[in-house]
Amino acid sequence: MFQFISCGQNTYYLRCFSNIGVYDLGNGEAVLIDSGDHKKSVSDLDKALVERGLKVKMILNTHGHVDHIHGNRFFKEKYGCPVYAPQIEQYFVEESAVEPTYYYNGIPTNRARNFFFRPLGTACRRLTPDVLPAGFEMLPLPGHSHNMHGFKTPDDVWFLADAVVDRLTFEEYKLPAFMDVNKSIETLRMLETLKGAFFVPSHSAATADIAPLARYNAEMLEQRKAFFRTLCTGKSFEDIFIAACEQLPMTMDLDKYAKISTTVRCFLQSLLEDGTVTARIEGFVPRYYPVQ
Ligand SMILES: [Zn+2]
Repeated sequence: MFQFISCGQNTYYLRCFSNIGVYDLGNGEAVLIDSGDHKKSVSDLDKALVERGLKVKMILNTHGHVDHIHGNRFFKEKYGCPVYAPQIEQYFVEESAVEPTYYYNGIPTNRARNFFFRPLGTACRRLTPDVLPAGFEMLPLPGHSHNMHGFKTPDDVWFLADAVVDRLTFEEYKLPAFMDVNKSIETLRMLETLKGAFFVPSHSAATADIAPLARYNAEMLEQRKAFFRTLCTGKSFEDIFIAACEQLPMTMDLDKYAKISTTVRCFLQSLLEDGTVTARIEGFVPRYYPVQ
């Protein structure tokens, strides 16, 4: 049975692939922070809410990635509740073609559109601080996606979305998705000093001290950047990609290629932005060189 895990007087979360935050407003209504990663977590959440006699008043999406928005349509239709997401992220929530576009480099085919069993988009309002329930705060967490935000409930509990991943994710996936690596590192350094009673990342267990995990994530991203710089010896993107897969090492399939190749391009972008790597067109494709 899907159970609420308490992390504050009125703050709970449901542990699943992408944790869902639940804040009990005390009047039979609840605020959801994200809404589930697939159909099963949505139906489990629905049952747990009904069991507690809670109706959904509003959904706050941290960002528009597919594994955070599955229940939007279901709860919106059931309760008529509004769905909010930060600027830019709202387009990912509303239109199911947007996220696959950056993995598949073009208008996605039906197959690409169904990547991760993506649900239909849901009408979504832009999230601004004035729509938050009393005592809530929002915090920009850029890097993993365009404009991801975290939320603090009145119980001093922070929901931190995908700003950090756990050690196992780094060990298994080698290159978790960070779309802007340099901004992610800045966000992680900020999280090392963030004050709060409890912290709930989406893909990790909740903790009273987020600093060690934030530090680990920042160090891993710096380490991966240094690794990619060693591969920039006049190689093309494809050669860098192959070398990374061999050395990290990683297995590959077509959907994984779509995600990981995007992440590798983001690491190369971060090095170009730093000025520690440069790119030149040679033989019609960019080749990457270190800058001494
Ligand atoms: Zn995400």
